Amino acid sequence: MESQKRILIVDDNETSAAIVSNMLKRNGYNTEIVRNGEEALGKIKSCQGLCYDLILMDIELGKGMDGAETAAEIQQYCDLPVVFLFAHTEEKIIGKIRSVAKYGFVAKNAGEHILITVIDMALKLHGESMRTGLYQQIVEHSMNEIYIFDPETLEFIMVNRGARENLGYTMAELANMTPLDIKPEIEAQIFRKLIEPLLKREKERLFYNTIHRRKDGSSYPVEVNLQLYSYRGKKVCMALVNDLTERRKLEEDLREREALLSAVTQSAGEAIIMLDEKGTVAFWNPAAENLFGYLQEEILGKDLHRLVVLDEQSYRAYKNSFIHFQSTGEGIYIGKNVELKAKNKAGKILDVELTLTAVKRKKSLYTIGIVRDIGERKKAEEQVYFLTITDPLTKIYNRRYFTQKLEEEIERAKRAGNKFSLIMLDIDRFKRINDSFGHNAGDEVLKSMAELVKNRNRKIDIFARWGGEEFVILLPDTTVKNAARLAEELRESLSQMDMPGAGRVTASFGVAGYCPGDNVDSLVNKADNMMYEAKAAGRNCVRFKDECV
Ligand code: GH3
Ligand code: MG
Ligand code: MG
Repeated sequence: MESQKRILIVDDNETSAAIVSNMLKRNGYNTEIVRNGEEALGKIKSCQGLCYDLILMDIELGKGMDGAETAAEIQQYCDLPVVFLFAHTEEKIIGKIRSVAKYGFVAKNAGEHILITVIDMALKLHGESMRTGLYQQIVEHSMNEIYIFDPETLEFIMVNRGARENLGYTMAELANMTPLDIKPEIEAQIFRKLIEPLLKREKERLFYNTIHRRKDGSSYPVEVNLQLYSYRGKKVCMALVNDLTERRKLEEDLREREALLSAVTQSAGEAIIMLDEKGTVAFWNPAAENLFGYLQEEILGKDLHRLVVLDEQSYRAYKNSFIHFQSTGEGIYIGKNVELKAKNKAGKILDVELTLTAVKRKKSLYTIGIVRDIGERKKAEEQVYFLTITDPLTKIYNRRYFTQKLEEEIERAKRAGNKFSLIMLDIDRFKRINDSFGHNAGDEVLKSMAELVKNRNRKIDIFARWGGEEFVILLPDTTVKNAARLAEELRESLSQMDMPGAGRVTASFGVAGYCPGDNVDSLVNKADNMMYEAKAAGRNCVRFKDECV
């Protein structure tokens, strides 16, 4: 049910106010009564005009403002419909009312029926003007530029604020203008031809892009949506217009950014690869072409891992982790640098470092990989490692590496019980060699000796320079007896070898085997002791300790 309308009765005559009020109440209105104009204004202002739907105003109000003056004041303040009441009014007052009365007047003694009809009509009229005003406001303040013009004369009927501000014309200026004045490149004939399908009802709307020119001569690109309306038999054209300047600028910026991004990825020294959610290649830059040997056109859309992963086993492992990543968004490699081996088109194994990131695009997870060739770095690292474990003169292992391997072998012997032995050898009277032939000749002897032993050893033996002219050999899975046999062979070969610039050289050998409870020091000591026994026995011989005590 419609809520009750509230009517403020302004009448200095108590009796007539009560009569009118009763009539209104009988017809479903809410009423309130005040005695004069000042009181009425006070009431209206106290609720910002929102507590009444209509004012019923006696024209003659005794002292103070009369009805017409009060109505004029109210109109200044808010948009409330005022209906006047009169008893026997002079002509000059009637004249005054006409300037403020948009909603009519009624005689006090006209009877209930007429009073209610006049009020009813006033409320309806006011409602309609409110709605019209509302629509006007919406059009006026629309974010779009809105142009309404006569399709016959083409003259503007209304141009909203957005359009006026952009063009720089006032409504008064626009009143004498047509769309042709702001579309300088279109002639009248062409424009009429353009809107013809609307007039002929062949089309409901026209959609086109054009240029608008401002008052200051500058122009801007627009998108126009033109429609034809009939209002009470009169045709009007309405154009909804969007200024495309911003959009064009955004498009331009976007193109610019894309070009920039493309320049970056094209010139990047590192391979930049993007995979879609299925793991197929969606992006591949020139550095990726160089690194992997696949051209962009031959790899886009292909399963990357099929091509670059080394073998079936790592392919499956990779695929599983990729599927896991796609379903959970979690990946062990995401956000980290990892070193991997990959295969290029020619089948060459590459050392690469991979940095992975994931991006979400339209609900799909894309993986972006930056891949660096670290072959050179790996080589350098291997070189550094080689230097840390070898002796610079003889190029065989150094004492540190040997000790580490010996520790590992002792651990293995403890766990698995396998036997192993050590040979320690020391060149006889080496000081004399140095003294007689020079230090360089001494160095050459050390190198030749190392070469000789190295060539005799098995792959699993660890041969190292213990220091000076002392060497050690770790012989896994070898009994002391067998180790002693090998030592004897080496001693023999060495003694028969002709050292360039130093003649004949011999060495003394000590051999010992691992016994439970041995550590690096005790084991080396045992071999060392045996070696000294060999020295004591006259050098150029082998001594070994075969039993554990
Ligand atoms: P022994 O038979 O008792 O072992 O006598 P030796 O002279 O070999 O023993 P000693 O330990 O007295 O002398 C070892 C010499 O080895 C002393 C040192 O000058 C020499 N030497 C150590 N390292 C090098 C090296 O890198 N190059 C050369 N040329 N000589 C070295
Ligand atoms: Mg020595
Ligand atoms: Mg010596």
